[in-house]
Amino acid sequence: MQILETKEVKKYYQTPSGIVRALDGVSLSVTEGTFGAIVGSSGSGKTTLLHMLGGLDEPTDGQIRVRGTALKGMSGEEKTVFRRRNIGFVFQNYNLIDYLTPEENVMLGGKKDIEKILEAVGIPREDWKRQVLQLSGGQQQRVAIARALASPAKVLLADEPTGNLDEEIADEIIKILMKSAHEMGKSVIVVTHSKKIADAADVVLKIHEGKLYHLV
Ligand code: ADP
Ligand code: MG
Repeated sequence: MQILETKEVKKYYQTPSGIVRALDGVSLSVTEGTFGAIVGSSGSGKTTLLHMLGGLDEPTDGQIRVRGTALKGMSGEEKTVFRRRNIGFVFQNYNLIDYLTPEENVMLGGKKDIEKILEAVGIPREDWKRQVLQLSGGQQQRVAIARALASPAKVLLADEPTGNLDEEIADEIIKILMKSAHEMGKSVIVVTHSKKIADAADVVLKIHEGKLYHLV
């Protein structure tokens, strides 16, 4: 089944110095269980595409379907509910709730299998009830992924999740994301500058000046 589909998606921004064509006719189709990478230089439109796929922003034109459901025409509230059920996000800066513990942060994603998930992402039990801010960046990113895994959402979108991490830790994070797709039933799309992620991915999409190219 196609879990994500876009057809001729455009996103134009009106700026004081003219129109920026961040996405200029992007069509893609992602099969369930895929571990996909989006690459491209800074400013090429990667984050914009991820936001469109996740329903965080509206395209100027074109269509987006998540699990066969069109995002177009949904009210703001409908979209929020749809997003909560269907899409998980992982960001470069983790976006955890600082004053909560890893366990509590993961419970914001969902209530099922919390312990199993914390173990799967490699958070040692003695850290589960610490304050999240006391953890290293790598550990915080594991918690953020765990939160997305705890959610019933089948789609996991990650925007440069290893951008702030040392290479060794980044490798671990990549493995967890790949496992999420191949063993835990998620469809994972990662925006990345990492050649390692791109090498590990089932599908590699490159954005250049708002256009999409299939590399793998
Ligand atoms: P990437 O994530 O690949 O670095 P972005 O998707 O963030 O690229 O940005 C693509 C282009 O769109 C850039 O030229 C950026 O400056 C522009 N852009 C992004 N968001 C906005 C916005 N809200 N208003 C105006 N221009 C924007
Ligand atoms: Mg970006």
